[in-house]
Amino acid sequence: MNLLGRSTPELETELKSSGQSAFRGRQIADWIYRKGARSFDEMSNLSQNLRATLSEKYQLDFPEIDTRHASLDGSHKLLLKMHDGERIETVHLPYPDRASVCVSSQAGCAMACAFCATGLGGFRRNLSTAEIIAQPLLAAHEAGGKIPTHIVFMGMGEPLLNLQNVLPAIHLMHDVMGIPMRNITVSTVGIIAGIEKLAEQKLQFTLAISLHAPEDELRHRLIPTSTKTSVADIVRAARNYVAKTGRRVTFEYVVLGGVNDQIEHATLLAKLCKGWPCHVNLIPWNAVQGASFEGVQFHSPVAQDLRRFRRTLEDSGVTVTQRVQRGADVAAACGQLSTLARKSELNQAGGSRVSLVNNLA
Ligand code: SAH
Repeated sequence: MNLLGRSTPELETELKSSGQSAFRGRQIADWIYRKGARSFDEMSNLSQNLRATLSEKYQLDFPEIDTRHASLDGSHKLLLKMHDGERIETVHLPYPDRASVCVSSQAGCAMACAFCATGLGGFRRNLSTAEIIAQPLLAAHEAGGKIPTHIVFMGMGEPLLNLQNVLPAIHLMHDVMGIPMRNITVSTVGIIAGIEKLAEQKLQFTLAISLHAPEDELRHRLIPTSTKTSVADIVRAARNYVAKTGRRVTFEYVVLGGVNDQIEHATLLAKLCKGWPCHVNLIPWNAVQGASFEGVQFHSPVAQDLRRFRRTLEDSGVTVTQRVQRGADVAAACGQLSTLARKSELNQAGGSRVSLVNNLA
């Protein structure tokens, strides 16, 4: 049995069932999630006998680090290989006063957003709680053992379609690793049932909803799997979420040059956001090879359009933030994580080039 991914109460129960005290379970939780232990041997405050028994009966099974890509600006991308050979990506973003880890919730993604590298590659499978919690732990290990201060579920996959494994991982991040709940951001394409479920749980993490268009017709073209959900449904679910949790929501808006960045889009978006606690996070699109929109290549917004878009929102009283671009030299941005795209890109370039852009804030 893999003990990675188990909660403290589960570890207590497990240890008790092996004739040990519950306290040993708490010590093991501390070793795995706070002290970064990768093996029972490292758990120096457990007797050698107990460590030997644990090694016989249990595993601490981490994904393998397949490759590391370090950006010149200090961010790192880890390509992790799961036991069944699936590969996922995790990004570690250190700042002077904090460190953020961008985690994946699924191998691949079924949402098929037209501008997203992961979306182009299709869905593989859900990640287990162990595979999710392993990501900040491995990132911390690579960073000399420092536990990240922030987590964003903006890697591969749709976290609200894997809540059964994502929620226990969030609890481990908060309850055991000690990451403040408000510093954990869960980003969703807008799965209404999931947003409603989370609203009932009244957790204090930050919910970010990927809107990308202020009206249905354009949104459905950009996110072809969203046709059963209207923008009005999303705003209704978001407002209910705010009412239930008391937390402001974020609307993410990937800005696609000439597609969703015109003044009429900003005006409509401002109308949706006015007068209730939400804010807009503008994410200038990062180039993804092969991402096209109805036959036309996407492009990043021109500076002037982006400025005008932002000002239109601000002039209507909407709070706006803009994603800072980092690490243009490693393949590590939200929506750019795609081992499939990366592999084909490497093949095309004769195995010598890795060139995706990183813009996580
Ligand atoms: N499935 C979740 C998490 C996905 S990634 C969601 O849809 O929210 C997090 C964010 O990155 C989403 O807002 C996604 O739309 C955005 N994104 C995807 N591709 C991108 C790209 N090429 N450039 C910038 N942002 C992108």
